[in-house]
Amino acid sequence: MNRPAEISGIAGSTVLVTGASGGLGEALCEMLAANGALVAAGARRADKVEELVARIHARGGQACACPMDVTDEQSVAAAWDVAERELGPVSGVIANAGITIDGLALDLSPASFRTVIDTNLTGVFLTLREGARRMVGRRAEGRMIAIASVLADKVVPGIAPYAASKAAVVQLVRALALEWAARGISVNAISPGYIRTDINQAFMDSRAGERFVAGFPRQRLLQPTDILPLAQLLLSDAARTITGRNFVVDDGQTL
Ligand code: NDP
Repeated sequence: MNRPAEISGIAGSTVLVTGASGGLGEALCEMLAANGALVAAGARRADKVEELVARIHARGGQACACPMDVTDEQSVAAAWDVAERELGPVSGVIANAGITIDGLALDLSPASFRTVIDTNLTGVFLTLREGARRMVGRRAEGRMIAIASVLADKVVPGIAPYAASKAAVVQLVRALALEWAARGISVNAISPGYIRTDINQAFMDSRAGERFVAGFPRQRLLQPTDILPLAQLLLSDAARTITGRNFVVDDGQTL
């Protein structure tokens, strides 16, 4: 009988993570570095990513700061240049940067709507496409993850642009996965449930937030670390045959 194939992890590979200055992105970068990946940490706030990189270096890991605005094609390309100059060819990417501007649709300005779509949807497109261009150019395989949300599939009042952007990310992932499958690039989405980070802290700390969480089957929020095992799997060789899918990690919050 053949020996079962080993699943090779992410050690030694270079992974670019956007939104690295935020709650989930920071945890993803630290997890990747702890598992031996070389981490390119991207976000607009350079000071925050430089602090993260210093922490990773202090623990013996390898990382570099890649200041970037995901809504700007040139900024994304420049971040990729820094990542590859400092850490070598990027083979994994997590398009995690995201924002929300909450408000009931009747009150929402078109500018706010566009800003959310531009960051959460166009930003993912620009990030993944830049990666795919480089991978295709060097005929290398790649593993890509876009962070969507349970709100891709479910809605609550006041989040129309966010929910629309995340639903579109899930479909974008399918479309890119189909186009890039023959190139050996897999593209998947992870849809986390509610995690306490800067993006929702004000709501989660309110009485309404407490009542909301009390309605979850386990009456708790997720921790950023809860997303890490799946992200690691989707960046590994195991994901060679897993592509175009959206994986929900929500602790049953949306059942
Ligand atoms: P945070 O607000 O803590 O982090 C958001 C990150 O996105 C920051 O690092 C921010 O960095 C970055 N970002 C925002 N706009 C841009 C931009 N134009 N260019 C580059 N980076 C940008 O939120 P989370 O860590 O919670 O969010 C991470 C992802 O997870 C998001 O996509 C979010 O939608 C998703 N998510 C979060 C959930 C939660 O409950 N927290 C649940 C489901 C999904 P900077 O400001 O420095 O640019």
